[in-house]
Amino acid sequence: MSTSEPAKKPRGRQFFANPGPTSIPDSVLLATAHQTVDFNDPNFIAVYEACIAGLKRVLKTRQEIFLYTGSGHAAWEASLVNLLSPGDTILILESGYFSLSWAAMAADLGVEVQSVAADWRRGVDLGALREALAADKGHAIKAVCVVHNETATGMMIPLPEVRAALDATGHPALFLADTISSLGSLDFRMDEWGVDACVGGSQKGLMLPTGMSFTGVSAKGMAAHAASTLPKHYFNWTNMLKRPHRSFVGTVPVSFFYGLQESLRLIEQEEGLENVFARHTRLARAVRAAVQHWSGNNGPQLFCLNPGRYSDSVTAILMPEGYDADALRAVALQKFNLSLGGGLGPLGGKVFRIGHLGDLNEPMILGTLATVELAMKTAGVPHTPGGVQAALDALA
Ligand code: PLP
Repeated sequence: MSTSEPAKKPRGRQFFANPGPTSIPDSVLLATAHQTVDFNDPNFIAVYEACIAGLKRVLKTRQEIFLYTGSGHAAWEASLVNLLSPGDTILILESGYFSLSWAAMAADLGVEVQSVAADWRRGVDLGALREALAADKGHAIKAVCVVHNETATGMMIPLPEVRAALDATGHPALFLADTISSLGSLDFRMDEWGVDACVGGSQKGLMLPTGMSFTGVSAKGMAAHAASTLPKHYFNWTNMLKRPHRSFVGTVPVSFFYGLQESLRLIEQEEGLENVFARHTRLARAVRAAVQHWSGNNGPQLFCLNPGRYSDSVTAILMPEGYDADALRAVALQKFNLSLGGGLGPLGGKVFRIGHLGDLNEPMILGTLATVELAMKTAGVPHTPGGVQAALDALA
């Protein structure tokens, strides 16, 4: 037998425990496999309008929503170019890799970026946000940008407290929230929390393929848009409002809407949005119980050190000193067909991530945790065995 023979395809399903894209339910996959239709066909328009209404219910908003063919980065860019003008200042709450990336995008677009620095393991001090807003007497800050759920570190930032900081200081800045890894997994209330623009994507809690993203926009956001002068065309909300679909400058990606219609049916009718959140909380607790158990004996530990801000959609796990997270991930993938998320930016090789969002149940979580424990044993990573039992105890 030749040694250069390709690796055999493993039997059984791959366990896909990445924090997005996430596994797609079979019924959504089937719904997406729809024959092409004219996007102005009245039958499609009915599906489209039902999807927009459903998406607004998930965002908990009655305001505008604009959609783009593009991943979450597209919605990030759309929110900035539609609300700001060259030289405007934004204040971004540092949370991890994704907050830095959004800030870098803003800088590239000609926006001045101020940030509230944070220890990524403990999370931003919202007192520092209040101080920064109070110090900005001339209201130079046009927008405060927050990643609701920092996918890179497994930390959730309490958005009502950000709103309270804006209100307490009487600061008129727009409130922008990235809901990419929270929407459809953690509670998010655009209108109640006074969010002016929220950014979401298809491939996480909505359980769709990657490639469609959107922005919910408040009336205050629309007024800011009217005055904004950053260059834009495909993302221009004014151009979109003139289109029959009030979105998509160009071809409407119809297949997504057949998938979205089904995913909204699963979320709202089959399970119920509040039950979706409860399931995420339950499964997340089991994951954390396992990791906290493993952490004995110098094992891997929760990256997030702030229990009040644990994310219920993703857990980042810090490896013991001297052990490489990517080597462990390679064992999990190559030997056991389990795909785990890697560390991003400065956390590369130091952290691995378990995504627990979307189409997920107890057996899938327990299978993932058992396989992580098996991979640690196989790779010689120190840990206290029995994390799966701790997860069972959390679930029972
Ligand atoms: N924001 C957050 C919180 C994310 O998790 C991601 C991707 O994982 C993004 C933004 C970027 O989205 P995309 O990769 O879809 O462009």
